[in-house]
Amino acid sequence: MLSESSGSESSAGTSPWRGLSASSWSGDALAGQYRVLGDIGQGSFGAVRLARHILTGTEVAVKVLAKGQLGPASIASEVEIMKAVEHPNVVQLFQVLETASHVYLVMEYAGGGQLQQHIPEGVGLQEEEARALFRQLAGALHYCHEKGIAHRDVKAENVLLDGRGRAKLCDFGLGRLFTPGETLDTTCGTPAYWAPELFLAEQYDGPAVDVWSLGVLLYFMLTGRLPFPGTTVGALMEQVLRGTYDSPGRASAAAQSLLAQMLTVEAAERPKLAQVLRHPWLSAGGRPRPGAASERVPAYPDPLTVTVMLDLGYGLTDTWPSLMGRKFDGAMATYLLLRHQQSQGAGLAVPRRPRPSSSSGSLRVPVPRQRRASEPGLYCQRVGSEAQQRRP
Ligand code: ADP
Ligand code: MG
Repeated sequence: MLSESSGSESSAGTSPWRGLSASSWSGDALAGQYRVLGDIGQGSFGAVRLARHILTGTEVAVKVLAKGQLGPASIASEVEIMKAVEHPNVVQLFQVLETASHVYLVMEYAGGGQLQQHIPEGVGLQEEEARALFRQLAGALHYCHEKGIAHRDVKAENVLLDGRGRAKLCDFGLGRLFTPGETLDTTCGTPAYWAPELFLAEQYDGPAVDVWSLGVLLYFMLTGRLPFPGTTVGALMEQVLRGTYDSPGRASAAAQSLLAQMLTVEAAERPKLAQVLRHPWLSAGGRPRPGAASERVPAYPDPLTVTVMLDLGYGLTDTWPSLMGRKFDGAMATYLLLRHQQSQGAGLAVPRRPRPSSSSGSLRVPVPRQRRASEPGLYCQRVGSEAQQRRP
């Protein structure tokens, strides 16, 4: 068995608390290609801006990573993973820009905001709604695990909804590439979603901790409550290691059986995502329609898109090597954005001249529901220091 060397991730950043402040933002790298429209989010690890791609007029989200605060290995890992994932329920990466001080991840904009804001407190979603979203998320995570990627921070704040209500997993800031059988040893993520083995500071299986976190998220979707509501790491640890939680109220017997499987304290007995996807609860209420095939970087570029790119000033000698080399540069971004527009049913009505935009009026983000006052303080906290995490 391979094991994650303890230095491998600690060398990733100078500071385990990967904070970014708005003042660390430098929009210069985007100038000419994107027009910044405003702020979307200020997570614990990154500032995210709404911008418009000037050539295609498409809105995008730009996550800004400050090199000084995050360290090269940590940024490289997030970028590498984002480049590798192509799934309809994972936020798509279009372009990576870099300056001496920052890296900018230009991504698909999920205009519906965080799933967290759509789950009524203490009530939860209708079971049908929860099932539809859960299927998409389980499919996305299964895809990641098959590609050797553990997310390690699955939670309602890291699931976004697009304009059509489809789930989009985001934030691979704590993601980790692994080889089959490799165990990991860095405790990270959000304590309310931590699997028991993370509290015990054991070497752990990346996919198994994602299954636990997804189980916590399923409970939250069904009830509007967390299964383990402790407000300190000590209290959470006790609840999680006991593995018991309040009955999820009106949830069906099939949903409760799936929850019980996913929230199995013994990691080795927890189901894999492939098993989760076969659970009868997922197919109750009718078989889901297969998700749209993810065809983002095809073997041959789409001729119609290439024609539009010619119009926009990108010759084949720009587009082809950019796509084949998966460069995530301006040409590739333009191609992917045009394809993205098509997949959204927008056709290829590309403005010949950049659409003027202003900093107001183009935000499509719905007004978020009020944050719950009862949320434990630790709920959104990522714990970055090995020493702190291992001795909660
Ligand atoms: P952090 O590592 O700081 O948590 P995230 O990648 O989770 O960074 O982004 C922080 C927040 O920004 C998200 O929770 C979400 O509200 C918003 N956000 C991030 N990416 C997008 C996106 N592609 N579309 C819309 N909102 C986004
Ligand atoms: Mg996040």
